[in-house]
Amino acid sequence: GARDGLGAYIDKPEKYPPDVMVYHSEDFVAIHDMFPKSSLHLLLLPRDGTKTRLHPFDAFEDAEFLVKVKEEAYKLRTLAAGELRRKYGKDSAQEQARQAALSADPPPDELPQGRDWEQEVIVGVHAVPSMNHLHVHVLSVDRYSARLKHRKHYNSFSTPFFVPIDDFPLAPDDERRRPTETGYLKRDFVCWRCGKVFGSRFAELKQHLEQEFADWKRL
Ligand code: 5GP
Ligand code: ZN
Repeated sequence: GARDGLGAYIDKPEKYPPDVMVYHSEDFVAIHDMFPKSSLHLLLLPRDGTKTRLHPFDAFEDAEFLVKVKEEAYKLRTLAAGELRRKYGKDSAQEQARQAALSADPPPDELPQGRDWEQEVIVGVHAVPSMNHLHVHVLSVDRYSARLKHRKHYNSFSTPFFVPIDDFPLAPDDERRRPTETGYLKRDFVCWRCGKVFGSRFAELKQHLEQEFADWKRL
């Protein structure tokens, strides 16, 4: 069924072109999300047959497996950060300051730090995944995408429904283990960047996200 759509990538990674398949190894496959909810949205799929059908909360109870997935997810985050630098670096005020310093004559002893794009990437899982195969989201923070079309698209990445991989292992009484009771997806929209509240006004939120995206790139 449609919920099994991610299985094909771990079964036959070699059959996908580079614009879909980021990389694959014996243990992991990294792909582009087909319906990206940010300007850069990747998925990390562990290939371990004993884990791929488990809910992430259950799969990550295995401490050794969790460490392995975290390490790979950080690797993919670094790769994503490099991609953001290539895409947006020239717009960024910090990168421009660095370039200016580099081309000064004589250049200063201490160059300004370039922007830390790794901080602009979020890594985690959904409390209730819609796709069956175990996957970790690795995406830029911007939530700027034409595919972001519904309330749940925004809130599933912008409320505790999105569980950062660093939060694992979860405590037994963590409320995110009971996501249906907590109504995360029905919450008012809150801008990821400035905290402004938009109630249920999705069109207004989308407009605001476009402005925030432009400002975020130039930061
Ligand atoms: P979930 O809500 O299960 O955590 O996220 C599943 C993700 O898989 C979504 O972001 C969705 O856009 C993505 N997705 C769904 N079907 C496909 C597909 O066939 N190929 C790819 N590459 N991504 C998909
Ligand atoms: Zn804002």
